[in-house]
Amino acid sequence: PYDRVFNFSAGPAVLPVEVLEQAQADLLNWRGSGMSVMEMSHRGKEFQSIIDTAEADLRALLAIPDNYQGGASTQFSAIPLNLAADGDTVDYIVTGSWSKKAAGEAKKYAKVNVAATGDNKSVPDPSAWNLSPDAKYVHYCDNETIQGVEFKAVPAVGEKVLVSDMSSNFCSKPVDVSKYGLIYAGAQKNIGPAGVTIVIVRDDLIGNARPITPVMLDYHVQAGDKSMYNTPPCWAIYMCGLMFAKMRRDGGLMAMQQANEKKAKVLYDAIASSNGFYNSPVDPAARSQMNVPFTIPSNPDLEKEFISQAAKLGMIQLKGHRSVGGMRASIYNSMPLGGVQQLSSFMATFAAQHA
Ligand code: PMP
Repeated sequence: PYDRVFNFSAGPAVLPVEVLEQAQADLLNWRGSGMSVMEMSHRGKEFQSIIDTAEADLRALLAIPDNYQGGASTQFSAIPLNLAADGDTVDYIVTGSWSKKAAGEAKKYAKVNVAATGDNKSVPDPSAWNLSPDAKYVHYCDNETIQGVEFKAVPAVGEKVLVSDMSSNFCSKPVDVSKYGLIYAGAQKNIGPAGVTIVIVRDDLIGNARPITPVMLDYHVQAGDKSMYNTPPCWAIYMCGLMFAKMRRDGGLMAMQQANEKKAKVLYDAIASSNGFYNSPVDPAARSQMNVPFTIPSNPDLEKEFISQAAKLGMIQLKGHRSVGGMRASIYNSMPLGGVQQLSSFMATFAAQHA
């Protein structure tokens, strides 16, 4: 009925109609969850059941001892392997959990100088960073997803090669790419489903990977093969392509920024107008437009209640990261204004009930 061909492709290859129909049927609302698999948190019970079932099914068929994953975390190792030789110094700015992880991984491959450490609530003033004169690059995280700490300007590091993890604010605002040696970002926040990692790297930084660098992590190989050295995550790339086209139709990154500013303001205003019922732990100068953490300082026990009542109203995944607690609203590009408006009015109602 679908006018399908016989597809003899070596892969990506033919799939059973029954499976495609299932994917189609599940596309907008996976088994009553109210969302697509592409949208659900990988920490949620829905995705956990998908991956658990897949694993159990595979184990029943064939035992596989390990699994492998790419993602932005892979770049934590690829960056020092490509940009620094054994024994070289590299600078890391630590403003939260992700930049700390990146620095920890880089320590395996280079001499890491932590040039500044924040308090998980603010961005340390770049003019006070203790950069090393011979560092091969300066790494920082533009938006700390867990702490909700975001840089509002490109940090000035002189002639140094600036490397930025933009996983959680990529394409949320215009960026002057020419100021950077390398930008990387996982796709699963603003631009598509998990499985794709964007790496934007300046020409002169390519081609110096250490001999021991895994071939998949060598920027010279990936750039030379136009990201097709191996079989890429085709579906995820296709989805990113649809998203990029839509963003351009919708007015580009300036329009994304305006919409994001407006949405973030609704939430930060809801916190500010709650007479202290809610608190944002983050310095106003570094508050993220993407991830908005907040707490109920007078009675943290109420936070659980807040999260479960919100879920009953269709506002889910408001629990803060397990390492910090509290609440966190992630309001990426595709979160409509209506979503944050509903959350903000629920916040007011809940505060009035419990104040
Ligand atoms: N950096 C940041 C800022 C992130 O938010 C994340 C994921 N939450 C990562 C890196 C790691 O990405 P991945 O899970 O794709 O490896």
